[in-house]
Amino acid sequence: MYDVIVIGARCAGASTAMLLARQGYQVLVVDRATFPKDIPHGHFIHRQGPRLLQRWGLLDRIVATNCPPVTAFTGDDDGITLTGRDLIVNGVAFGYGPRRIVLDKILVEAAVEAGAELREGFTVESFTSDGARITGIRGCIGGRGPIITEQATVVIGADGRNSVLAQTVQAPKYEVVPPLTCWYFSYWSGVPVDELRVAVRGKKVVFAFPTNDGLTGIFVGWSSTELVTVRSDIEGQMLAAIDEVPDLAEQVRAGRREERLYGMTDLPNFFRKPYGLGWALVGDAGCHKDPYMALGICDAFRDADLLVESLDDGLSGRRPLEQALAEYERRRNEATMLIYRQNLDRAQFKPLPPEMLQLRLALRDNQEETNRYYQAIEGMISPETFFNPENIQRISAQANTEMVKS
Ligand SMILES: Cc1cc2nc3c(=O)[nH]c(=O)nc-3n(C[C@H](O)[C@H](O)[C@H](O)COP(=O)(O)OP(=O)(O)OC[C@H]3O[C@@H](n4cnc5c(N)ncnc54)[C@H](O)[C@@H]3O)c2cc1C
Repeated sequence: MYDVIVIGARCAGASTAMLLARQGYQVLVVDRATFPKDIPHGHFIHRQGPRLLQRWGLLDRIVATNCPPVTAFTGDDDGITLTGRDLIVNGVAFGYGPRRIVLDKILVEAAVEAGAELREGFTVESFTSDGARITGIRGCIGGRGPIITEQATVVIGADGRNSVLAQTVQAPKYEVVPPLTCWYFSYWSGVPVDELRVAVRGKKVVFAFPTNDGLTGIFVGWSSTELVTVRSDIEGQMLAAIDEVPDLAEQVRAGRREERLYGMTDLPNFFRKPYGLGWALVGDAGCHKDPYMALGICDAFRDADLLVESLDDGLSGRRPLEQALAEYERRRNEATMLIYRQNLDRAQFKPLPPEMLQLRLALRDNQEETNRYYQAIEGMISPETFFNPENIQRISAQANTEMVKS
């Protein structure tokens, strides 16, 4: 009998298992995968992600895998280009792009080091219940063989957007928006990108960032309405999109693609109620978002942290468990809802709101404030210190004065 069983041992599940085990709980974490194992998803970690990894003592391990810190961000929205530089606070850069085969292994190892029991190659097929509460899992090694049952006070689904636990308990969904974009990506050598580059071109977007071993990941996202055209010639469509970013295209032509093209198309947007009697959800299982703003991993880390605080309250008896888990849902939604909706706007390739456009225009040629703009967006300084009416007015006035002078 465990305190907690976690299904899924990647960003959400391994982090949750590690944090619970560090608090002394008896944790079993299972995954049908055997690690190290890659997963064809993106992996740029920013916003609260790097700070949490540092707090957990894992950031140095990630950097040590030959994964460079990323301290510059160029956002290029249909021709308005802004580069934030020196985006590093207390030695923590704004972003890191470790390959998933590297990141997930470090997380799984940290969970085991903390005392969690790891069962790899184990597929959860169904659940035990006492008629009201979920009380455990049933599954088997390698998808066949004898059925094994394990029991726990709480079963956590960190098993991705098609979560078997969420489907079994019929976790209610809300804020549902069907898939908006489709993505193809690969990795190049000889393309010396040392920043996060995001270039929007009409109804498509090109991302580039450095990852392990000197490779550059290049991801292209299109509106889902373009899927048939994109699929008719994936490589040609990818290169055509990259060609619309001329300096990157030049580097790509001089470099070499080292891996096959990967793609993902079925990417719905939703929240799920993340708890019920004897169960909870974290990561993509609880809230799945379009990859546009690269929020999945950093949000999975944050939600693991929030969930473990609530579970600790409940399991230690400080509060009734379901009340503590209701607090988890409230805090998760408070932290996510605004950016979730902004992400939907971006994934629909809506134009920037006029006030944002004006601000970006005013920031051109103002490096110091551009750096602060990106720091505020990335949560490296409190957003209110930048996005307050007096500051925005001051930046606009400064830009007007410069314009008159020239
Ligand atoms: C194209 C694309 C690009 C993206 N780019 C970024 C990015 O740049 N930055 C970012 O932060 N996010 C990005 N994301 C999102 C990110 O990949 C996800 O948010 C993240 O993987 C969620 O982690 P997770 O642990 O919740 O789920 P997953 O990573 O999906 O892990 C779930 C685990 O559960 C296991 N599992 C599932 N069912 C069972 C079962 N029945 N029994 C046992 N094990 C099971 C699986 O084997 C898997 O290991 C991108 C996603 C896509 C598709």
